[in-house]
Amino acid sequence: MNDSSSLPLSYIINHLGEERSAYFHSTVPPIFQTSMFAFPSVEAMRYAVQHESEVPFYTRGNNPTTDILRKKIAALEGAEDCLLFASGSAAVAAAVMPHLKAGDHVVCVQKPYSWTNKLLTLLLARFDIRVTMVEGSEADNFERAIEPTTRLIYLESPNSWTFELQDIAAVAQIAKKHGLVSVIDNSYATPLYQKPIELGIDITLHSATKYLNGHSDTVAGAICGTKAMMQKIFNSEYMTLGGVISPFNSWLLMRGLRTLPIRLERAGKTTMQVVQFLATHPKIEKIFYPFHESHPQYELAQRQMSAPAGMFTIALKANDIASVERFCNALQYFLLAVSWGSYESLAFPACVLYTSENYQGAAQTLHWSWIRLYIGLEDADLLIADLDQALGLL
Ligand SMILES: *Cc1c(COP(=O)(O)O)cnc(C)c1O
Repeated sequence: MNDSSSLPLSYIINHLGEERSAYFHSTVPPIFQTSMFAFPSVEAMRYAVQHESEVPFYTRGNNPTTDILRKKIAALEGAEDCLLFASGSAAVAAAVMPHLKAGDHVVCVQKPYSWTNKLLTLLLARFDIRVTMVEGSEADNFERAIEPTTRLIYLESPNSWTFELQDIAAVAQIAKKHGLVSVIDNSYATPLYQKPIELGIDITLHSATKYLNGHSDTVAGAICGTKAMMQKIFNSEYMTLGGVISPFNSWLLMRGLRTLPIRLERAGKTTMQVVQFLATHPKIEKIFYPFHESHPQYELAQRQMSAPAGMFTIALKANDIASVERFCNALQYFLLAVSWGSYESLAFPACVLYTSENYQGAAQTLHWSWIRLYIGLEDADLLIADLDQALGLL
């Protein structure tokens, strides 16, 4: 799996990694629903155990259905190799932990995904690993936070509530200068709209649950990097923690991936229309969206990401949590749910993290008037009319 970054997108998605003659010329690859593989001789078995990340031996290590998907996602990211996991959070842990030991330090952008935050601040703290969270709009902030025991810089650009960006190339340069491993959560932009490896990042990772799968029917994760880096991770956290994706989920994810380019294209267009409607609406206090002119890093977004994706946050002009609830309960075409990246539009009100009496709620970083909106594949007119009628109730 060497440099595949120049392969045409449709070739990667429709053909790369698929050896149809090996399975009766079936157009769709089979699900190899097996835990292990048998060998005709000791010699063949010895070879397989010594090349476990490449050759089918045991499904916790390699499975042919999953292997096709590894090749595709690696090529999309312009990476040499990819490993797939049972969830995005398993991918985050496997990307981070192999580089750390007791006494080490991590520099992380502030407000990463909630469970990434818990991994870094709570779980790894039990093993005497410290983290400094930095405001990420200035690349220099990362350099200033580096200590003698720093091993890794962690980015998420943009993050998924406040949509703050980091200058990926600049931070990657800082990591290289100090000999640190750089990791980025690229779930929001996807490898189609942002290519961190080209910008100098070592490991790019995904909650494949979101855009890559795109059908709300699978939880999965992916990490991409050099062959040597993926081999190091394979031999450590990947095999020992064993958070591997199942063959069936690989198959579903591959099916979802087939339509990623058109899903994203549609989402970007619809989202721009919905954002334009909301931006001038008198009941909207603020919009957090990298591709709207009001975003403080609008220019960086345009330079670093090739097109807009379909999620943003709105701050409502609401007097109390009860009116936010009224707005959300009135929505007919936005399901109230977490996650994102699929065919259906969603609303995630921050006030679910509060009780209606307690405005000091648990998550102080997310104001109770904020609602994260994910735009699915519905018609823009339908979504705009729905938001309009619900805003009328405020
Ligand atoms: C959902 C999400 C994750 C975690 O992925 P899971 O598949 O839910 O484990 C990580 N990062 C981001 C940005 C996410 O949205």
